[in-house]
Amino acid sequence: MARSLRNKLCSLCDQSSFILYRVKYSENGNWVFVCPQCWEKVSQNNPFYVYGGTWKAKKK
Ligand SMILES: [Zn+2]
Repeated sequence: MARSLRNKLCSLCDQSSFILYRVKYSENGNWVFVCPQCWEKVSQNNPFYVYGGTWKAKKK
């Protein structure tokens, strides 16, 4: 049975990615998942950036 949760989408660019970073990037923001490209953008020079883990798609 296929599970639709296997591919998460980046919260910023809506692209699916096999690896996403769980981050907060605004002062009162919620946890979101971002792809590596967007992660570079939101993590640089951002005092509100918090890293919360890495999500990887596992194929089995
Ligand atoms: Zn993205």
